[in-house]
Amino acid sequence: MSPVEVHWQGLEADLADYLAKKGVQPSCRAGCFACCLGLVTLSRLEGEALLPHLRAEQRQRLLQEGPRRLALLKEGKDDPQFPGRFFLSRTPCPFLAEGLCGVYPWRPLACRALLTASDPKFCHPEAGFSGNHFLPTPWRMARMRMETLWEEERKRYGFLVLGEMVGLLYLLTAGFPRTRQAAEETLTSLGVLGGRWGFQLI
Ligand code: SF4
Repeated sequence: MSPVEVHWQGLEADLADYLAKKGVQPSCRAGCFACCLGLVTLSRLEGEALLPHLRAEQRQRLLQEGPRRLALLKEGKDDPQFPGRFFLSRTPCPFLAEGLCGVYPWRPLACRALLTASDPKFCHPEAGFSGNHFLPTPWRMARMRMETLWEEERKRYGFLVLGEMVGLLYLLTAGFPRTRQAAEETLTSLGVLGGRWGFQLI
């Protein structure tokens, strides 16, 4: 099992354990997908672990949606309202199919950690995103695992890439640059490096 898969499965086990011990019952259900209308941040290692599992039609949707998201990011990466505007546009994740995650076993840590025990109506874009109704501990548990993977990525490549999931997966399909300098040049030429919401090389 790859380090990423270890963390995906490890988080699932930790979450189940935590929720059972605390007696917390998330209201998240199959078919409820408001959180899949938002932007998701991904690291390269998680992206590389997810990509091989895409079916042909999912890959096709990624190839269509990836350039569109990169263009939106270029235009909005410095706008404080960008994630909110995107959320309100109700553009679903390209892996969402009939209200279900089409990559459920391989979905990123960030997706796994977004749980709520309150009324799901607060997850919808129109409710005004505050994030306050999401359970904080699952997010913290996921964040610790993300940070471990970020260290692993730095060891493997010498630098860490973080960015919007669909745009990053799209760039990975074309073979992401191996060196930091080449990555910087590619992301700069696309206009998506840095700013408040753009890609980060760390
Ligand atoms: S990867 Fe799955 S869970 Fe994450 S946003 Fe996309 S459809 Fe939703």
